[in-house]
Amino acid sequence: MLAGRLLNRLRADKERFEWLLAALITLGVVVLELKTGFLVRVYLLAREHQDLYIDKLYLGSIAACVALAFIGVRRSVRLRAEISRRVEAERHAKAIARHDPLTGLPNRSRFIEDVASTIQRIKTYGSSSAVLLIDLDRLKTINELYGHAAGDKVLSETAARLRRVLRVGDGLARVGGDEFALVIAVNFDEDIPVRVAQRAINIVNQPVVLGDAEIRVGAAVGIAMCPGDGCDPNALLHAAALAMKRAKKEGRGKYSFFEEGMDEELKSRAITERELKAAIAANHIRPHYQPLVSLKTGEVCGFEILARWEHPTKGLRMPAEFVPVAEDTSQISELSYRLLRQACEDSNAWPIGLTLSLNIAPCQLEERDLPYAILAVLRETGFDPRRLIIEITEAALVRDLDMAREILGVLKREGVRIELDDFGIGYSSLYHLRELSFDAIKIDRSFIQELRGDDEKKKILGAIINLGHTLSLATVAEGVEDESDFALLSELGCQFGQGYHFGRPVAAREATRLVDREQVVA
Ligand code: C2E
Ligand code: CA
Ligand code: CA
Repeated sequence: MLAGRLLNRLRADKERFEWLLAALITLGVVVLELKTGFLVRVYLLAREHQDLYIDKLYLGSIAACVALAFIGVRRSVRLRAEISRRVEAERHAKAIARHDPLTGLPNRSRFIEDVASTIQRIKTYGSSSAVLLIDLDRLKTINELYGHAAGDKVLSETAARLRRVLRVGDGLARVGGDEFALVIAVNFDEDIPVRVAQRAINIVNQPVVLGDAEIRVGAAVGIAMCPGDGCDPNALLHAAALAMKRAKKEGRGKYSFFEEGMDEELKSRAITERELKAAIAANHIRPHYQPLVSLKTGEVCGFEILARWEHPTKGLRMPAEFVPVAEDTSQISELSYRLLRQACEDSNAWPIGLTLSLNIAPCQLEERDLPYAILAVLRETGFDPRRLIIEITEAALVRDLDMAREILGVLKREGVRIELDDFGIGYSSLYHLRELSFDAIKIDRSFIQELRGDDEKKKILGAIINLGHTLSLATVAEGVEDESDFALLSELGCQFGQGYHFGRPVAAREATRLVDREQVVA
């Protein structure tokens, strides 16, 4: 049994097995010689029968043995070299599997191990630790504009800079295409994660020189705390990723801590993303209509189309819940065309002069086909382009002014009117008003609400309305909520108003009822 096990072990180690076999054969020959003296017998036999050339055969076999032994030794040496080569290759493969070849930093799986050991170490002296996820902005655009070599340069440069943020015992890794992660000791100073996040944002923000060009890459940082947000390395990284998404939403160069509920928010967005395509295709997202009223006559002169998702189980869902998702998933234009088509059809039941206002998202003003698709819907439904108003925000113009000018120009030539929505909260309204020939400004409702009861601010509102008159632009006020807003705006000479005072957004049938009632009164 023991011998059997020993034999098996030896068989597993082939080289040793072969050496042992050779030694046993040699020993066997020696024992045989001692016991039987067969070498002497062979010698005598060779002398007796010289005609048989036994001595030559004997010599030949000795030479063969020496040759075999030589081959054996060479094989063994080669085998040893091969084994050490393999061990080295395995070590290298393991190192590659745990490191990012471009930056030389640990990769995600190695980082998870590092986080576990850092947490363990820090726990022993009672302090907490933090995981920071740093997400680079614009890496995809840089790859597209300057090529992948440029993207690689940005990544290596970023890795080198982030290394400078590290203190003894901290860990840094590249955990995704454009994501880096840090694990740091908080050392009883709760401000440390904020300081590190801010430093990371600042140094990533420094320009990267690429030939003649200087590229600026921004970063957003998400922070998860251990033990506050858990101690499982994977869960901490996930929490930091959720926090990073929040930071990104808040704008460029921001950081954010993980908070309860972020996970739920993300899950519900994922559900919306999944359901949205089918909802658009099934026309579950319908136009609702909010009246636009002449402040001079009090008459309804048109409706703004506001999207409402008539969800089979969740009830009426508001645009804030799905319009950003439709924008991010490139479905907003399809949604707009369907809403417009439906609205043009609904408008057949209304007096002929009423206008329709359609909101266009900033990203849509980057699509050259947009005006032609809109005009096609108008043609197919027989809606006069002069009755359509397109509402755009300044964010759309900041993106690509030339493209916006081209797109809006096509629509304007057909008689469509263009209105600058949310006026008063943009960046450079006057410049854009001059650059693009708008037909109207729609003063943002926050503006009207903030102005209530404040004389100085009333003067500003008056100035905006006058600006509209001077530039021959129609003025529309949003958020007219009560009689006093109505009176003030009329007094200041604003031409149109929209708000709860005149009517909330309603479905087509109610909008029809509203205009019918007006006609009866008239
Ligand atoms: P917006 O274009 O500024 O639309 C006006 C929003 O103000 C509407 O919210 C409306 O219900 C609300 N509102 C109207 N009167 C009053 C008032 O007197 N007081 C207050 N506090 N609010 C009032 P809603 O329908 O939730 O739409 C929000 C935003 O969603 C819209 O802002 C618009 O930017 C976007 N949106 C809606 N439908 C579409 C669409 O079809 N396409 C695109 N791209 N965006 C849309
Ligand atoms: Ca609007
Ligand atoms: Ca608005």
